[in-house]
Amino acid sequence: MQKSDRIFSNIVDKNTIAYLWSFAKEDWAPFIEACTIPDAEAKLKDALSKFPILDKGIKPSHFTNDLMAVLPKSFIVANAAESFPGHWKDNILTEYEPHKVLMGVALVCLATRSHHGCVVVHGNAKKSYESLRKARKLAYEKGLIGPQSSSAITISIRRSSGLLSCAEDTALLAHLEGKRPLPENNRKLFRKTAFVRNVETFASLGGLLKKGYKWWKDKGVEPCVGTKIFSISGRVSNPTVFEEEYGAGMIACIENYAGGVQNSWSDVLCIFPGGIFSQPLSAQFFQKAFLDEGCLKKLGSSLAGGSLIVLEKKDSLSDFVHKSLMAYQQESCGMCPSCHGGISYVRDQINDDAPEKEIRKNIDFIENNALCSHGVFAAQLARSFLHKKWRGL
Ligand code: SF4
Repeated sequence: MQKSDRIFSNIVDKNTIAYLWSFAKEDWAPFIEACTIPDAEAKLKDALSKFPILDKGIKPSHFTNDLMAVLPKSFIVANAAESFPGHWKDNILTEYEPHKVLMGVALVCLATRSHHGCVVVHGNAKKSYESLRKARKLAYEKGLIGPQSSSAITISIRRSSGLLSCAEDTALLAHLEGKRPLPENNRKLFRKTAFVRNVETFASLGGLLKKGYKWWKDKGVEPCVGTKIFSISGRVSNPTVFEEEYGAGMIACIENYAGGVQNSWSDVLCIFPGGIFSQPLSAQFFQKAFLDEGCLKKLGSSLAGGSLIVLEKKDSLSDFVHKSLMAYQQESCGMCPSCHGGISYVRDQINDDAPEKEIRKNIDFIENNALCSHGVFAAQLARSFLHKKWRGL
């Protein structure tokens, strides 16, 4: 992808003087422009509705359609606390592109006539937290946002508890209210409706509006149009985070951005294209894989959060699945027995090499009875272990 096509050039340049207003004002330009036009709310909604945007989180949903249904005076929450293994793109984004993040949240607040936004970063992401606070201070000083500004939009920066369950919207809202981060039926925050989406989706809005509909439409493959931030980790020379358009070749991305694999491609066992809860692709499949949902679906996997993990033949897939399941087990909130007890049971079955039929039955039980996506993701991860058997890994 050309450098000029990137929305988030600073995640590669890692320019720390981005807090200076001379750099930041470019990022805030769409918001400044929107504040000066009469009837900004309707015009912004109209402009954004042209871009059918998919949310860039681990559970892609239709961002634009959902945005059109947001009630006025809602809480707008950008979630950068999705903390699955290999998924650290949101930390890099909030650390190096804080103005784009804040501007995206402020823009959605303006479009939905809301006055409160919130960015939640991972509990351990200290640098992201500090970076966002510095950027917010500058935006307050310039009178763009803040209680004294004409927009009257305030944006709070919070750190999550660091639990995996904070990836679940309702658990995150409970956490923001000071409660234990457990999934609930309540989708409100302090009795107001809340609109929670992945932080990258908010941050990309300014770039989309600036580059225009034609640029956006030419990128990617329907329904995944535009660009996305991906991360690559595991057995590669240089684990990294990069921005690429949807539909780019998987092997080309690993070669270009991560410096290739540690040894040779013939040593690669499999690649998880969407992090630990997507199905692994063995050589015969990853060689023809492209980074878009349609292609990966045909190959029996999914893009999810776009966190590529490369394993080599010397790695044991069952060990990998086993350890990852342990993380899920430890972070299960315990509300549903299928998840709390079921994950540990399936983990033991994988360890004991139990009959596949038995393991599959228990995985189905976890998936069908889990109250939130935590249990569903754990089941999908365990299924990847079975998947390897029929994919000959
Ligand atoms: S699926 Fe797991 S994490 Fe989610 S509510 Fe049930 S026990 Fe809690």
